[in-house]
Amino acid sequence: MDDTQTLAKRLCAGDRRALARAITLVESSRPDHRTQALALLDALRGHGHEALRIGLSGTPGVGKSTFIEAFGCMLTGQGLRVAVLAVDPSSARTGGSILGDKTRMERLSRDPRAFIRPSPSQTHLGGVARRTREAIDLCEAAGFDVILIETVGVGQSETMVAEMSDLFLLLLAPAGGDELQGVKRGIMEIADLILVNKADGELKAAATRTCADYAGALRLMRKRPEDPPGFPKALTVSAMEEAGLATAWEAMTELADWRRDHGHFTARRAAQARHWFEAEVRHGLLARLDGSEARAALARLGEAVAAGEMSPAKAAQDLLAHLPSR
Ligand code: GDP
Repeated sequence: MDDTQTLAKRLCAGDRRALARAITLVESSRPDHRTQALALLDALRGHGHEALRIGLSGTPGVGKSTFIEAFGCMLTGQGLRVAVLAVDPSSARTGGSILGDKTRMERLSRDPRAFIRPSPSQTHLGGVARRTREAIDLCEAAGFDVILIETVGVGQSETMVAEMSDLFLLLLAPAGGDELQGVKRGIMEIADLILVNKADGELKAAATRTCADYAGALRLMRKRPEDPPGFPKALTVSAMEEAGLATAWEAMTELADWRRDHGHFTARRAAQARHWFEAEVRHGLLARLDGSEARAALARLGEAVAAGEMSPAKAAQDLLAHLPSR
């Protein structure tokens, strides 16, 4: 048996070290690793079972790691296997990671039913997206029941995570004043569940008020066909006191079950697969422009388009003429 087959076998048996190795392989940009990674992903197709992929976003300090630790331990306590992946756009810039830090999730990281993987340092978000999607597939093949994909509420990472999740959660802190916090409308539109954290002690009243405000705002939004009555909804939780977590999980399973029963679950995954296929094609085409004279043309034509000297379509046509025709 070659390496890939051995790795696939160990991974399917739920071996966490094999899973960690496989993720390292999909993170590598070395061409030979890439070939092995694709072979591995292919060998794993159809293994494991359908996990629930949950995207989770929130600004730093809102309590994401405290929540994941408490929520994850609650799920493993029910016998479920939980994987945590992080998408950290700041690691793309600084090389450092502020998410998925194991020391912040000590209890969960020691749990034999859990697997935590911090965000990789990558040069661009596109690379992180590919790695995360593939890591999700690997976790699913390894038999995990719930895959939490954590990200911070900045930039495009939230939309990206929503594009690879079955459900998307937004974690918020209680607002100080009356008005809603500066949550972008686009983010509200992709949220399936808003959780107002820190509903404890002297923050409890503010959390309850904030939650009611968001519930009101959600009711005013356009109804989506993939939502049962009452969704998207807002709930309060306290990650610190481990309160409201069971209710939040009930809401998540209710939503997932409804979507499964009504064909939305499969349809969403199919649309996501198509989206990522097209993203890969775009990425591949752009990569072919790398290092060639077309790269200079990309910059030059980009300038011309921005300055209004050329139409985007004409500029794109000129650029594509630079592609090697292999
Ligand atoms: P992250 O940056 O979103 O991962 O946030 P952390 O989980 O590191 O939490 C940031 C701070 O908020 C820490 O000091 C936590 O102790 C605190 N915190 C997290 N959850 C709660 C909660 O439910 N209630 C209260 N009162 N504080 C919390």
